[in-house]
Amino acid sequence: MNNNVYLDHNATTTTKPAVARAVAESLERTGNPSSAHAPGRLARQAVEEARESVAALLGAEPGGVVFTSGGTEANNLALMGCARSAVISSVEHDSVLASAPEAPRIPVDGAGVADVAALEDLLASAPEPILVSVMLANNETGVIQPVAEIAERARRHGALTHCDAVQAAGKIPIDMASLGVDLLSVSAHKIGGPPGAGALVVGEGVDIGPRALGGGQERGLRGGTLNVPGITGLGVAARLAVDGLDDFAALAGLRQKLEDRIRALAPPVNFFGTGAERLPNTSCFALPGLMGDTQVIALDLAGVAVSAGSACSSGKIKASHVLKAMGAGDEEAACAIRVSLGWPSTESDVGRFVEAWGELAARGASQATEPAA
Ligand code: PMP
Repeated sequence: MNNNVYLDHNATTTTKPAVARAVAESLERTGNPSSAHAPGRLARQAVEEARESVAALLGAEPGGVVFTSGGTEANNLALMGCARSAVISSVEHDSVLASAPEAPRIPVDGAGVADVAALEDLLASAPEPILVSVMLANNETGVIQPVAEIAERARRHGALTHCDAVQAAGKIPIDMASLGVDLLSVSAHKIGGPPGAGALVVGEGVDIGPRALGGGQERGLRGGTLNVPGITGLGVAARLAVDGLDDFAALAGLRQKLEDRIRALAPPVNFFGTGAERLPNTSCFALPGLMGDTQVIALDLAGVAVSAGSACSSGKIKASHVLKAMGAGDEEAACAIRVSLGWPSTESDVGRFVEAWGELAARGASQATEPAA
């Protein structure tokens, strides 16, 4: 272990030790869950136990859980496997946006919350049948959407609702039944499980078709030999996530300290989404004049890992569509960074971040006030 500080848990979080052990043990066993012999039956048992754990985390029926290679595939399957025209929010993850590029977008307000009245208009004018897709929590800002209300309105119009719960799972309690959604996506590596595993939960009676064709696995919805080690790890992570919800909620206290200390440094920082309900762990803010990717590089040199906008879009110089949808200009959006705490985060991590960021902000400010040569 090095003594670097990792505060990019929304990009991917640290695998929990019990998960790593379960994945390693699974890799040491041979058996395809589709085989009828004893090793196959053992593998099947591991998959079915994981299905129960994932369902328990989400307040869902185990029979509805379809294992996938992660959140992206779960979102693709929901949007593209459902023969309906989609209406999506303007702050969705790229895996939803790319699955329904022509879909009308539900705008969000300045705090990042979907405009339910605008959804009503879209529901009234979109060609039927409709699928509404709105995430439970945003990956960049942590803003939580009023999904239960959205699903209720959708239902009144005969529409189905898909919810990308990839960032919300394990961070806030989720009950698919009380959310009233028909399809819900999760990903293992965001909850302390391994990358490359996830699930789409399909509500009873919801009619969707496969995207991956093959041996008829997962009720014919996702062909391909099951990733037993990944699914096993997802199952253990889901079980631990249920037990860890209170500890995760307590990260709000650490996040508050982080934001208070940044404010106390007195630069003109804008925090995004603070007018809305947010995940306990996420803070997204911009210091005008200091580009997000410059901040990320400087913090990395100081041994602190955070991200500029969403990790999935970093590498491309593209202002965040999420912050722009919230009304930020190109310049302000390009100056934003995201700090996301996770289950191993400590007060000392936050202290190290604030110290490194404070130095960077002071350097940025002095450069900005230097007289031109
Ligand atoms: N949805 C959201 C909200 C996400 O944050 C991510 C991961 N960045 C995904 C979907 C995709 O999940 P995965 O990495 O498992 O494909």
